[in-house]
Amino acid sequence: MITDIPPFMPALFIGHGNPMNAIEESVYAAAWRAVAATILRPTSILCISAHWETEGTFVTAMPQPKTIHDFYGFTDALYQVQYPAPGSPELAGRVRDLVKSTAVRLDDGYSWGLDHGAWSVLRRMYPLADIPTVQLSLDRSQHPRFHYDLGRELQVLRREGVLIVGSGNIVHNLRLLQWDAREPHPWAVAFDTLAAELILSGEHDRLVAYAALGEAARLSIPTNEHYLPLLYILALQHAGEAVSFFAEGLPLGSISMRSVRIG
Ligand code: ZN
Repeated sequence: MITDIPPFMPALFIGHGNPMNAIEESVYAAAWRAVAATILRPTSILCISAHWETEGTFVTAMPQPKTIHDFYGFTDALYQVQYPAPGSPELAGRVRDLVKSTAVRLDDGYSWGLDHGAWSVLRRMYPLADIPTVQLSLDRSQHPRFHYDLGRELQVLRREGVLIVGSGNIVHNLRLLQWDAREPHPWAVAFDTLAAELILSGEHDRLVAYAALGEAARLSIPTNEHYLPLLYILALQHAGEAVSFFAEGLPLGSISMRSVRIG
């Protein structure tokens, strides 16, 4: 049967971890590159990054977003990275119109751009920076269910060639980071394993209500900005749709690099 309905684009949650993954070769950089090679070229990219928290929900709507170096104390080479992907005022407007649960406001005044949650992974996936890219912010005043439900409202974009990428980390505890860690913390292993099981079994409600998952969850998600992008991506999964992991690992004791592909 011939159909004119385009296929769904996959949706990705990427564990971005240390900003140095943007410029240092690693198994993670290789995995990000490899996953992009298996996906049809997107018409545009919508990124939900852990690093853009706002009061209310915003979407970048400028034609040429700036590269934001939102980290401290790293090597000069990292500050020199530019990721000059164009923006897409058109996609930004589409997102604003699609979302009914809250008023999405356009950031067309260059208050944001592309932060390292977005560009550290996108420069590996699409090094030519030639795909229009938009960021959606995390409303820090909202509860996890709000973020999951908002993700669901974006589902139709997958039919329009838009690649939706959540960028964060399922386990992210900087206070308990160990630069010389030989083994991850046991609670980090426990929560990363539990999250993986719940993702594979489609138990999204339990992942949304992560605070009820006990001490390992509490230590893994001391603040939830790195976890919330996962909920946006899980919400994009259709009933029975494939889900898989394309990267995993627990470097530095308390960071999970687990990366999830829907579709
Ligand atoms: Zn981060």
